[in-house]
Amino acid sequence: MRFPKPFLKQSEKRSEAAMTHYRSLNSWLKETYGRKVYKLALDGGFTCPTRDGSKGTNGCIFCAGGSGDFSIPVNDNVAEAVEMAKSVVDGKGAEKYIAYFQSYTGTYAPLERLRALYSQTIEHPDIVALSIGTRPDCLEDDVLDLLAELNKAKPIWVELGLQTIHPESAEYIRRGYSLDVFDDAVSRLLERKLTVIVHMIIGLPGETPEMMRQTAEYIGNIGAQGIKFQLLHVLEGTDLAKDYREGKFRTLSLDEYIRILESCIESIPPEMVVHRLTGDGAKRSLIAPLWSGDKKRVLNEINAAFDRDQIVQGSRHAR
Ligand code: SF4
Repeated sequence: MRFPKPFLKQSEKRSEAAMTHYRSLNSWLKETYGRKVYKLALDGGFTCPTRDGSKGTNGCIFCAGGSGDFSIPVNDNVAEAVEMAKSVVDGKGAEKYIAYFQSYTGTYAPLERLRALYSQTIEHPDIVALSIGTRPDCLEDDVLDLLAELNKAKPIWVELGLQTIHPESAEYIRRGYSLDVFDDAVSRLLERKLTVIVHMIIGLPGETPEMMRQTAEYIGNIGAQGIKFQLLHVLEGTDLAKDYREGKFRTLSLDEYIRILESCIESIPPEMVVHRLTGDGAKRSLIAPLWSGDKKRVLNEINAAFDRDQIVQGSRHAR
């Protein structure tokens, strides 16, 4: 039965807005699994080639340490880490979970270590899928073959931090690989029927709104199944913070962010799953933009703007 809008609770209104304007991960999970599914953030003890000296030592310019602030360390006991991570989301009504190796580069380790870690993770009965955050230059064929083999048991998602298609921005953020490397990795992942989710950053210094829309459109055309939009955060302890304090760039206002996000949503295909509309860095180290610290308000404003502007995912998508 459908209730008239005035009688919907706030959270129901939000999810209805999400279903109308864009294809959210939550609605996709409900369609697919018929129940609530939560992501469990795990830390497999990885590092990155831009940190360990093979491609650099300082990491990406915005990165304060691998975006795994809330991840549970695995320490060779996957089942224990999964239970601990479950206790963090307990009470939210979930029965099934997606294990997410979020910290640093989740494929940057010897093959046998990856095999042991991933296999033990998907063996857990409450885990319905495994998601691995990594870089396209850390996906050798033997790793992809391993992922393809595991994908037959449970779905394997690979999350790639592309951030931008523009070479000057990629150089500024010290990404450490070219767009060709990304394209090649995506085609080898898709050949093996793995699920690809691409992260992009809105608000990189020097990028115009049109450049950011072009990045979203490019991701929408490459065959990836999902996209994650992240807001550029300036975090304490990063080289980006130095540039920010020296006045080399400014961060976006919430209104600017929403306008760019709207054009990105309109530029991706209607079937693509939107895993995130914005990111939230650790509040204690957030320098700018400070409005991003109030995640609830940000999501409410985004959904209100989508309603007001009648945003429809894919309405400007050009294949
Ligand atoms: S690859 Fe990811 S985790 Fe590694 S330095 Fe860059 S942003 Fe940080």
